[in-house]
Amino acid sequence: MEILQDYSLEELKALMEEYGEKPFRAKQILDNVNLGKSISSYSNISAELKEKLLSRFADFPLKIHTEQVSRDGTRKFAYELSDGNIIEGVLLEYKYGFSLCVSTQVGCRMGCKFCASTLNGLVRNLTAGEILSQVLLVNALLGGKAGKLRKVTNIVLMGSGEPLDNYDNVVKFLHLVSSKDGLNVSPRNISVSTCGIVPNIRKLADEKLPIILTISLHAPFDELRKSIMPIANKYSIREIIDAAKFYFEKVGRRVVFEYALIKGVNDSFDCAKQLALILRGFPLHVNLIPLNEVKERELKTVNRKNAEQFAEWLTNMKISVTIRRTMADDIDGACGQLRNKIENN
Ligand code: SF4
Repeated sequence: MEILQDYSLEELKALMEEYGEKPFRAKQILDNVNLGKSISSYSNISAELKEKLLSRFADFPLKIHTEQVSRDGTRKFAYELSDGNIIEGVLLEYKYGFSLCVSTQVGCRMGCKFCASTLNGLVRNLTAGEILSQVLLVNALLGGKAGKLRKVTNIVLMGSGEPLDNYDNVVKFLHLVSSKDGLNVSPRNISVSTCGIVPNIRKLADEKLPIILTISLHAPFDELRKSIMPIANKYSIREIIDAAKFYFEKVGRRVVFEYALIKGVNDSFDCAKQLALILRGFPLHVNLIPLNEVKERELKTVNRKNAEQFAEWLTNMKISVTIRRTMADDIDGACGQLRNKIENN
């Protein structure tokens, strides 16, 4: 079945024309979409049009299968898609509003050694509307509407999947969710995280959407990076840094580099020194994340003291750095812990 949430206002207008309906019906439908409603609950269109829509489109593309709440208040959702696949997402509350982490693929084919999302490989890409529906559903759950009345204020594409491996759907989602006809989330409040697919970083820069680009680097030496991230066999660190600089020049936003600290792997002074060396010379920020352990993997995390030491080394070498708070690890909702199946504990 098709997904109505994949449609922009212009595409809905074309659909209404195809159905012999007046163009203003398109806006009525989009108003319902923005409220996170299922087609069967639309009350401002005729029964005949509703029937036509339901014969072609999923009533709503996903539903919440289970919800867990962490001791720090973070909420993790497992969503069930129309085809029965499961994806996960995480909701964090900040002073300024709610930030939702969304998935872009069912599974992932990138094979990073520290990540649970890739354990079963890639099952399939999500459509733009399936990514959008995660936001619509949670926004509605929080009592939010579109525009200034939305509750989800920030979005991070950091759930399961490599966003730039599903490029066209992700870019369409970015346009839909930031459209003034849609939820109207500012692109400045959206982060896209990538393991470093160089040609698509450059392509994204050309879209001129002022989103935050986050690059999962995790190692400052190519050989070391290859041992934990297979994508490093394809693109060198030099190529990634050049693409990041290109992104900054085109978009004007500093790039964020994520660095998961793994005990005995990438937490040495030599690593900090090399990291500072390769990142020197353009506006960026480093997010240090003590590794969120995944039970199927051997890799171990560092303690707080080691993380602070690594941060201090970088600060002394004039690199802007913060240590990210570990959140929701008690419910496997932290970065790298999201899955495409329900765990039976
Ligand atoms: S860290 Fe991201 S890119 Fe790497 S396997 Fe996990 S989901 Fe895929």
